[in-house]
Amino acid sequence: MRIGIDVGGTKTVIGLVDGPGKIAVRRRIPTESMRGYGPVRDDILAAIDGVLREAGLSPADVESIGVAAAGQVLRDTIVFSPNLGWENVPVKADLERTTGIETFVENDVNAATYGEWQFGLAGSAAHVVGIFIGTGIGGGLIFDGRLYRGYGGVAAEVGHMSLNPGGYECRCGSTGCFEAYCGGAYVVERVRTRLDQGYRGKLWDIVGGRPEALHAGHIEAAYLEGDEICTAVWKEVIEYLGIALQNLVNLLNPEVIICGGGVIRGTTQLLEGAKAVMERRSLAPSLAGFRLERASLGDDAAILGVTSLT
Ligand SMILES: [Zn+2]
Repeated sequence: MRIGIDVGGTKTVIGLVDGPGKIAVRRRIPTESMRGYGPVRDDILAAIDGVLREAGLSPADVESIGVAAAGQVLRDTIVFSPNLGWENVPVKADLERTTGIETFVENDVNAATYGEWQFGLAGSAAHVVGIFIGTGIGGGLIFDGRLYRGYGGVAAEVGHMSLNPGGYECRCGSTGCFEAYCGGAYVVERVRTRLDQGYRGKLWDIVGGRPEALHAGHIEAAYLEGDEICTAVWKEVIEYLGIALQNLVNLLNPEVIICGGGVIRGTTQLLEGAKAVMERRSLAPSLAGFRLERASLGDDAAILGVTSLT
């Protein structure tokens, strides 16, 4: 019996995992990160208590707690999380002191990659790359069946591979990053700016006249109907996602790349389009036996991953 906690920018999910890949009890709470770390930690502790009571268990029945959090994690401390506004927060020590349960902390995308590998792919490959495209882009690397964290513990920042030195500005301070080209928030912002400037096209009806509701799925749908702006923007997204895949395939020679996140879930042909770009550009030996897969676990991936990593 283990507890997995996925701390996201807007919501936190606490799951009681009672067997490989099985979440028995699940509780969702808002992450009120504007209140600071202390109140969020206390909300999490209260939710752990609630989950245990619902299952009729005591802390002694739980082997470990795994916490998956957005941000850079070093030796079980969340060193820096721009999403949560946290710096050097001692989650492990705090949860262990209150619950008495051994606690581990992992980056959320590493955890999600591990979960998709273990339970989505059933561990059926030893060299796997995870790419999660939501508002931004995160990644995870599994080499020889083990999570690769890098020298300082912050490896797999695939979103900040620079694909065009003179390209769009990225929130990391660099330019031309994969994330700046394909991250949902960036793409939506580029198109929404045009709507705010008065552009209508086919997109206007697709988004129901509500630019504030715009998401990547609308842009793809408008592209498929020949909308002018969305065609230009979406062709670029397909091309750059394909180039990112090409770079990863040529550099790492993975057996599988798993793609997930809201932008992949919310679109129908993006991955297939990018796959064609990748296949056209990659070295042939790098592609031998290679598979590009969709993530299949959704929001459960990080909880299942972080509880099987620990
Ligand atoms: Zn960047």
